[in-house]
Parts: sequence; structure tokens; C-alpha cells
Amino acid sequence: MTTPDWRDLGLTGLLSSADSVLIPLHVSPDGDSVGSALAMAAACRHLGSRATVVSSDPPPETYRFLAGWEDIRRPEDLSPPFDLLLLLDCSSLSRTGRVRELFDTSGLPLVVTIDHHRKGERIGDYVWVDPAAAATAEMVFDWISDAGLPLEADVASALYTGIATDTGFFAYPNASAGTFDRAAALVRRGAVPDRIYRKISEDRPLQEIRILGRALEKLQVEAGGLLAWTALTREDMLEKAAGPDDTEGIVNRLRSIAANEVAILLVQTDSGHVKISFRSRKKVDVSELAGEFGGGGHARAAGATVAGNVDEVTREVLAAALSRLPQTEGDHRS
Ligand code: 5GP
Ligand code: MN
Repeated sequence: MTTPDWRDLGLTGLLSSADSVLIPLHVSPDGDSVGSALAMAAACRHLGSRATVVSSDPPPETYRFLAGWEDIRRPEDLSPPFDLLLLLDCSSLSRTGRVRELFDTSGLPLVVTIDHHRKGERIGDYVWVDPAAAATAEMVFDWISDAGLPLEADVASALYTGIATDTGFFAYPNASAGTFDRAAALVRRGAVPDRIYRKISEDRPLQEIRILGRALEKLQVEAGGLLAWTALTREDMLEKAAGPDDTEGIVNRLRSIAANEVAILLVQTDSGHVKISFRSRKKVDVSELAGEFGGGGHARAAGATVAGNVDEVTREVLAAALSRLPQTEGDHRS
């Protein structure tokens, strides 16, 4: 770094004065994590800095079609120092998983946070959080546009992917008029919506459909359907040859049941943990529910990972969810 006082520099100055920038994906990376990171890496290169995207978990095959996916590194392949740690779509440093272990806390370089989660740790020397943004990729798009940086078709595809995945392809209430404006601008820059939709929502591996089948077989509903849940064990996962990425879409299917307000998917992992995904429709703030289990997220989509036995964790999670359901059944839909 050659900067005397980064406070005067703003985001553009900060990134251009760093020689090496490390951009972690978050654990269980989604389209917003991957898309924002690949777009920011391209932007950093335009600013003359070396950017490395790193992922604690294996980068999801779904996003292989994005330029730069092949260059995503694993923490064990890297060694510090880095001048700047750029946290995207991460509400805390721990969301970077094993990337955090590359640094001891006192040894953190300059940290920049760009995020759209309402709650979080907010670590960073430069922190830009906008909970009104539908996706971190929206914020990245705004900054790249304001900074006058080039936005090639590859970068447009990455940002479109981030926005599309975090809005359920423009179906969730977080998709605002501004979201559509940005998406249109990205299409003009070369993002191809039908191709991106096909790569993400079709062209799915067989084991994903098989594990969905198992999850639906085991589906249970409570409170007259207000709560729908299913739990997958290690055995289910092994039997269907399913990996962690193969369960991603399941919880949204549970939410699509007509009476549903809260949907929960529990997946036992091989490390003795249970990964929980929460979705809600209108009333229940599932980021608070996830918070009870050490996780977080958004009001309508949140998650947590808990150590322990899948049956016990399921019992605790269901009790917590039931206590948050609207009291009068049947009046929750409009
Ligand atoms: P998913 O259910 O798709 O894994 O996660 C939905 C959203 O919940 C993610 O976009 C992320 O914002 C949040 N989330 C999931 N797991 C965790 C977690 O363990 N901790 C925190 N803070 N947020 C999580
Ligand atoms: Mn996001």
C-alpha cells in the first residue's frame, strides 16, 4: 500500500492503491456471492490491483459458466500478505469460513465491506451496507457505473446472476423498479437472461432432482400448513449421491405450498453439524429465527449451522419456529 490516509480515498482510491486484493466468497456460496466477487475482481484489475477470489467451500458448479470461475482459489492454496480484504455479501468475517484462518485477527489487512444484510458485525475500515439493495451485486453495479469503470459482457453476466438469484429471478418483493433498471442495463451490456436462467434453473444434475424427491417424501406440515419442514440425514444424502450444493433449491419448494408461512430445510452434514435454511412469506422475520441458532440472513431467507444431532436440532428449531407463527390461523394471506 502506498496510501498515507485511506479515509480520504473512497472505495475507488482504496482499491486502486492496494497491490493485492483478496475477495472471499461466503460459505455455501450463492449467485450473489459468486457474481459480486467475480465482478469486483474484474474491477480491481481495471484499477491496477491484483485480485484473487477465494472460496472456503468448493465453488458451486452451477456458476461454472461465469468467466473467472475457474480461477477461484481455495484458502490452502494461498498465503498472505494481502493489502486488502474485500468482504462482499458477508454479514460477518466468520461467513468467509476458513479464509478467516489466513489471518489472525490482529493481522487483518485493510478491510472493505460491501453488503446488503440488515444485521451484521460490520467489520471494516470502509463499510458500505445498504439493506434496501436486493443483492450485493446491485451495489457493485452502482459503484462500477459511478466509478466509470469498463463493464464487459462477462461482468454484466456475473452481476445479472447475483441480482437474479437473490431476487428469485425478479419474483421476490426485494425486486424493485431499480432492480429492473439495473437488470436492463446489464442486458444492454451483454448479459443474456434466458441463458443465465437456463444455466441456473435448468441443466440440473440428476442427484439434485433425486434428493429433492427424498426431501418431498419426508415433508411434514404443522399448524395447518403454516409451517412446512423436511430433514435430510447423511444416509439420505449418500443414498442419492447428493452434495451440499444439491439441496439449495429445496426450501423454496416447501414455501410454495399454498398455506405456507415458514419453510425449513435441515440437512445433516458430514462434520456432525446441521445446516438449516429458513424461508418465510409475509409475517415471520426468519433472520431473527436464524439468529436464535447463531445464524442470520434476511427477513424472508435466512440460515444457520448448528452442531449436534439432527433429531434434537430439528425439535428445537421446530419449537422456535412454531412460537413465532402468527397466532390466528388462516388470516395470514392477502
Ligand atoms: P440459504 O438458506 O440459501 O443457505 O441461506 C439464505 C440466506 O441466509 C443467505 O443468503 C445468507 O444471507 C443467510 N445465511 C445462511 N446461513 C447463514 C449463517 O450460518 N449465518 C448467517 N449470518 N447468515 C446465514
Ligand atoms: Mn446477497
